[in-house]
Amino acid sequence: MTDLHRLSIREMAEGLKSAQFSSRELTQHYLDRIAKIDPRVNSYVTVTAELALAEANAADELLKSGTSGLMTGIPLAHKDIFCTQGIKSSAGSKMLDNFISPYDATVVAKAKAAGIVTLGKVNMDEFAMGSTSENSYYGATANPWNLDHVPGGSSGGSAAAVAADLAPIATGTDTGGSIRQPASFCGLTGLKPTYGRVSRFGMIAYASSLDQGGPLARSAEDCAYLMNVIAGHDEKDSTSIEKEADDYVANLNGTSVKGLRIGIPKQYFNVAGLNADVKARVEESLKKLEEMGAILVEIDLNMTEAYVPTYYLIAPAEASSNLSRFDGVRYGYRAENPVDLMDLYKRSRSEGFGAEVQRRILIGTYALSAGYYDAYYVKAQKVRRLIQQDFLKAFESVDVIAAPSAPTTAYKIGANLSPVEMYLGDIYTIAVNLAGLPAINAPVGFDQNQLPVGLQLIGNYWSESQLLSVVHQYQQATDWHNQRAAIAEENA
Ligand code: GLN
Repeated sequence: MTDLHRLSIREMAEGLKSAQFSSRELTQHYLDRIAKIDPRVNSYVTVTAELALAEANAADELLKSGTSGLMTGIPLAHKDIFCTQGIKSSAGSKMLDNFISPYDATVVAKAKAAGIVTLGKVNMDEFAMGSTSENSYYGATANPWNLDHVPGGSSGGSAAAVAADLAPIATGTDTGGSIRQPASFCGLTGLKPTYGRVSRFGMIAYASSLDQGGPLARSAEDCAYLMNVIAGHDEKDSTSIEKEADDYVANLNGTSVKGLRIGIPKQYFNVAGLNADVKARVEESLKKLEEMGAILVEIDLNMTEAYVPTYYLIAPAEASSNLSRFDGVRYGYRAENPVDLMDLYKRSRSEGFGAEVQRRILIGTYALSAGYYDAYYVKAQKVRRLIQQDFLKAFESVDVIAAPSAPTTAYKIGANLSPVEMYLGDIYTIAVNLAGLPAINAPVGFDQNQLPVGLQLIGNYWSESQLLSVVHQYQQATDWHNQRAAIAEENA
């Protein structure tokens, strides 16, 4: 079969169970596609072909014996921020280019236990800092819709791999939009779960109070399949919630769009820099939801202007602390011929980290320093609470909140935006992380250059089922999520 990559996860699972094809065939199909197509996309940092085929053989045994689970035998790509035992786990950094993890992240362990096949590890902005995936030691990844453009970031490799059909589904992480924005730029569905829903154990830390793992896929249905595998309490992550995870697949039709109250924040649609095509596509998608029975309600989110400054204090502050462990002593990159210990630290860190990571360590260290701690870090934490309260107030009158995922479509590779311009592009995603809320991106059309546009729906705490269900119903009534980039139409 030449078109196995066109199947949804549900269709793949059915095909595997009814022995229409084996996991080995399915896996080989993706490995062939990666070999032929990925040199132009650069989505993979590491392809684990041998391991994938061994895992596929094991999955085929389970399928034959009738003891398989929901996703047994389905291939997947992991963002290179998840630790994978025996496999390089680089976080996109020269600092970890030589790091072979001695253990699996919980997300990886859960995927393995579910019989999922690991195709490899995919590219990302260094330590998840960025919005283009250009901040990677392994070079930029291309957007499958137009190879001159970025796939977004930081989970750009995950998004590009799925959009080019080099993996049917991928894991990503979202600290300030890194699942939703690349999903938006690549025409995919991506879910950022509530903080604490998916274990952070073994996920290389960027900003621990904001980091959260989740799926990138073509549809809400596909995302639900992976959520069923990765969500849940983990005693190895003290911030993971003890609350039982939902059955996201069973709940796909659980929320009716009829009567659903969708909040439209006034402030969000007046943001300077909101691209006209993005605005138009998002508004059209909301009109469609209205036709399906949703009630659109204008709301106020008065803290909008505080989002970018608050995130860009808290995230770098936490990053400067988390990244202090990379000192050239215990593991990772070590500078050659140090003259003394201080020289070893200094050169290992300045040679091992890229420019954006160094910038954030500097910002964070400054904000946490004794003289400025109260003025910057403590103040940002207070504003963070106000941002959360703003959302909670809104959820008293609406069920979900709608927004663009990003003010623009995918930038050109090498566009070289200033750091501040780049940071302003995160306006629609970062508040969700500051508040710890779940949110989803769904593709809703294209701009005039045929680059995808995404709609973001933000839910109240633990409303992942509701978000997936609303997007699932939208996707039953529309066809945007089935559109494929030309490169995905190529056969291996
Ligand atoms: N673009 C944002 C940043 O650079 C978000 C990144 C993320 O979610 N990891 O911090």
